[in-house]
Amino acid sequence: MKRILVTGGAGFIGCHLCERLLNEGNEVICLDNFFTGSKDNIRHLLQNNHFELVRHDVTKEYYAEVDQIYNLACPASPPHYQYNAIKTVKTSVLGVMYMLGLAKRCNATILQASTSEVYGDPKVHPQKEDYWGNVNPIGVRSCYDEGKRCAETLMMDYHRQNSVNTRIVRIFNTYGPNMAVNDGRVVSNFIIQALQGKDITIYGDGSQTRSFCYVSDLVDGMIKMMNNSDNFIGPVNLGNPSERTILEFAELIIKLTNSNSKIVYKPLPKDDPVRRKPDISLAKEKLGWQPLVDIETGLRKTIEYFDKKIRENG
Ligand code: NAD
Ligand code: UDP
Repeated sequence: MKRILVTGGAGFIGCHLCERLLNEGNEVICLDNFFTGSKDNIRHLLQNNHFELVRHDVTKEYYAEVDQIYNLACPASPPHYQYNAIKTVKTSVLGVMYMLGLAKRCNATILQASTSEVYGDPKVHPQKEDYWGNVNPIGVRSCYDEGKRCAETLMMDYHRQNSVNTRIVRIFNTYGPNMAVNDGRVVSNFIIQALQGKDITIYGDGSQTRSFCYVSDLVDGMIKMMNNSDNFIGPVNLGNPSERTILEFAELIIKLTNSNSKIVYKPLPKDDPVRRKPDISLAKEKLGWQPLVDIETGLRKTIEYFDKKIRENG
């Protein structure tokens, strides 16, 4: 049995990861400051003797004895990470520094939840790990993009300088049950708007693309990366290469929810990436990983979750 720390464990991806790690027979410490996470996401795990919940902010030091660390703490939705941009940088940079210090002291393996945003508004398509990206260092998304890039730098420097056992995964747009109703990202916004018969808000003309990965596939990839026996440290892309425009995505949500909602167009946020699609050949080769859940199956489960959540909230 391993003792595993999951920072951001009460968030959307974190709660699925905690559950999977417990089911696989591990002891899990879930650390969260509940900025965007919720106790609802992990309430069902609280009865488990191998699960421990800690309210803590990763911008402060934390001590524990652990074998592995998954560092997920960081708001991921643009409205949430822009709400307090300075705090977002601190969370990414100080958070990973403290976690790397902990990993060094405990000789633990640490996996950093990085992001496709390190590629910025990419000029290379699809994005491969050796692409250095096209990132605005002073824009409204920079607190997140540059914070995550600096976190990758620290991971690599602790690895080179202090031999810390590090892993970097670059996560592409992931969706599924337990996303927050007020998350503000496209999947939750469109589904909730469609279920409530409200206008579907496309930012820009809807020609920008994204590639959506179902959360169970992502968690699979993260665990494979953490435990790979080749000491493959990454970075590695984890995402579903099935690319679509945001307009096509809105139409799919309308179809799957049988909604009467109309599509309306709103201004495009600044620095919104035009195209995004992961090249996952490295993950296939090194981890034997690829996503298995197709978009309709994943969306039906997500729609069912939001439908229940909306009814509960009245
Ligand atoms: P989320 O907002 O649901 O989860 C983030 C969690 O971190 C929340 O529980 C939040 O309360 C916690 N947190 C935030 N700041 C903290 C702090 N200072 N101290 C302690 N806890 C803090 O987002 P998510 O979608 O689950 O994303 C999880 C991780 O994966 C993030 O690091 C994100 O950058 C990364 N990621 C996610 C996606 C995606 O599509 N979901 C894509 C790329 C990268
Ligand atoms: N988007 C949209 N309507 C919304 C929310 C988002 O059209 O209500 C667009 C957004 O401008 C972006 C894409 O959907 O082009 C994905 O946005 P999201 O915030 O989910 O994540 P991103 O990939 O931009 O970080």
